[in-house]
Amino acid sequence: MTPTQSPAAPAQPPQRQLNSEQINRYKRHLILPEVGMDGQKKLLNARVLCIGAGGLGCPISLYLAAAGVGTIGLADVDVVSPSNLQRQVLFGLKDVGEDKVKAAARRLKDLNPDCNVIEHKTVVNSQNVLELIKDYDVVIDGTDNFPTRYCVGDACVIAKKPNVYGSIFRFEGQVTVFAPHLKNPDTGERGPCYRCMFPEPPDPGSVPSCAEGGVIGVLPGIIGTLQANEVIKLILGIGKPAIGKLTYFSALDLEFRQFKVRRDPSCPVCGDHPTITAPIDYEQFCGVPILDPASLAETAEEVQRAKSNGHPGASTASAEPGRAGPIGAARPGSAPPANTAPPRPNLDDKGLPPGYQFKPDWETTPREVKAMLDKGEKFVFIDCRLPNEHQITHIEGAQLIPLQQLAQRMGELRGKEAEKIVVHCKSGARSLQFTQALRQQGFKNIKSMAGGILLWNKDINPGGPQY
Ligand SMILES: [Zn+2]
Repeated sequence: MTPTQSPAAPAQPPQRQLNSEQINRYKRHLILPEVGMDGQKKLLNARVLCIGAGGLGCPISLYLAAAGVGTIGLADVDVVSPSNLQRQVLFGLKDVGEDKVKAAARRLKDLNPDCNVIEHKTVVNSQNVLELIKDYDVVIDGTDNFPTRYCVGDACVIAKKPNVYGSIFRFEGQVTVFAPHLKNPDTGERGPCYRCMFPEPPDPGSVPSCAEGGVIGVLPGIIGTLQANEVIKLILGIGKPAIGKLTYFSALDLEFRQFKVRRDPSCPVCGDHPTITAPIDYEQFCGVPILDPASLAETAEEVQRAKSNGHPGASTASAEPGRAGPIGAARPGSAPPANTAPPRPNLDDKGLPPGYQFKPDWETTPREVKAMLDKGEKFVFIDCRLPNEHQITHIEGAQLIPLQQLAQRMGELRGKEAEKIVVHCKSGARSLQFTQALRQQGFKNIKSMAGGILLWNKDINPGGPQY
């Protein structure tokens, strides 16, 4: 199936009566007057589309399937990777390397055979979004990038579908329901859309993703179950849907805060005189691609490593059984056992990724640094990452001076202006900033290690942690 083709949600025969097995399965619902037989039948007849089968999509779809939602569409193009398992509770080790939508469908069908799971292994974009959402009653935004959020947000306004929105970052999350075709239950006004709240996308690169900034594993569980709760309320028509109300959650403070969000009458999509009446080019609008090439490469590498470590489910013809080991367990500086050697990375003759724009005046390669260390050459070696990153993996002999502390710790480097200095970080961006800052301070002989410790751990210390 090509990314633009995807099965539409087939019309399920409407559930008119519950059989005795279903009555037993759903009896905790049936005794709630707010649900009852009629409500349970509404759930069984409901069609819900979850965009993203990641951190949010996992708890959302698990709870909706368990609740008896009859049709759940899942749209995701990714495969399961080992670093997903910290929070993506639908999946296990045996699923590593498999399409998320396929692994999810199997788990959800096992949880509840009443649930018809529709797999949309596709990138959601302006070409397919309207076709994708048209047969669903409720759309859930569980995505992690701005182009898809705007795309889903606009399409839901155009197609008059409620958009149950959640987002997460580090220890904080947000939940609301965007539905300009429905009323805010408190004010009676029409609700806002995603663009009313975020009229403009952030500058490209200004907002780090969860992959860059991290996320505490339970957070998507908390935010995702709140989204699932909103979906169930919308289907049943009970309670007050969170239309016009944004709930912010802080995991560190166990604090929920609520904000009113109002529809903007001049909004280009849901305003009184809309100018956007069909999906636009969201990658151009946001200035970033829907699929981040770096994160795709990371997933492919993780899966490849899991395969070469002989993980169940991720095993290949070349992987022998019975040598499963924890992923990323190789200690910094230590070579991995010979039989779990990772595949040779694809690097050029300098040891750099193909196409890398090497700046010889500013950068040195991991291979050159290794040669200097092997020769016992005297130079100042600095790791400018954060202490927690240093604990994950580090190069023996590198002194930790986080970029953020450079101004305060300048004294430690004074007097070394003429000495040879090499600085490294995770992937080479921060160390270049560090290098620029020190050159402005009169340090003449400083260079940044291209590709950072991630490249080091591919080329010099293969099997060393990638994070
Ligand atoms: Zn709007």
